[in-house]
Amino acid sequence: MFQVKIITAYPEMFPGILNYSIIGKALKEKKWSLEIVNLHDFGFDERKSIDDEPFGGGPGMIIRPDIVEKALLSIKYNKNEKRCLIYLTPSGKSLKQGNFNEFIKNDQLIILCGRFEGVDARAIKSLNFMEISIGDYVLAGGEIASQVIVEGCIRLIPGVLGHSKSLLEESFSNNLLEYPQYTRPQVWRDANNNDHEVPKILLSGHHEKIKEWRHSKSVEKTKLIRPDLLDKKKLQE
Ligand code: SAH
Repeated sequence: MFQVKIITAYPEMFPGILNYSIIGKALKEKKWSLEIVNLHDFGFDERKSIDDEPFGGGPGMIIRPDIVEKALLSIKYNKNEKRCLIYLTPSGKSLKQGNFNEFIKNDQLIILCGRFEGVDARAIKSLNFMEISIGDYVLAGGEIASQVIVEGCIRLIPGVLGHSKSLLEESFSNNLLEYPQYTRPQVWRDANNNDHEVPKILLSGHHEKIKEWRHSKSVEKTKLIRPDLLDKKKLQE
């Protein structure tokens, strides 16, 4: 079973959204497990403090390395189990769909959520945390970011999604964005009495033509919104 371990100062933020929908169902069905490690259990004083002021000055507080180490050492594992340690930080490598495929090859995924101004750099380096960012913006803590990573991973575990085939045609699977999708009603009349029809080709029943149309729509959309992905695709080919 894929084991997820979250190290956080806010254990009450979990399972959070991970308790719902297909991810929550898979948790109940024991397709993956979740353990939350509370940094405050390893606090250094009576008040269970975990942070201190930055050396060299500056605003905010930094989570201490000794606290992070103790929290990490409290997580049990067998020597033959593969582990991946992630520290979430805006200064890490940008998270990509391909990372999820790599993360789920491990037995244990350990995610350290930062708070305040972040974590002492020595802990990240010497405990071998990989630094990952979920985007070029700054959040108040790593908890939401950790749920992003876990949700992205768990839906890839075989048997979690009803239609595993849908994984093959999704955005990013081939450096293309997904084509537009439509459902009923076939003609949708909006509140201003305008009618919007579904593209005719999708009603034709002609699978080859639909496939071609979808591919061309994918390319068109990617060109417009994410030309950088098409450049990558060309390099790959
Ligand atoms: N001083 C830091 C920001 C700290 S934000 C800096 O300038 O880089 C506090 C915590 O929120 C971080 O330690 C990290 O765990 C989390 N966080 C904020 N933005 C994030 C992002 N884009 N990706 C991943 N984690 C993020």
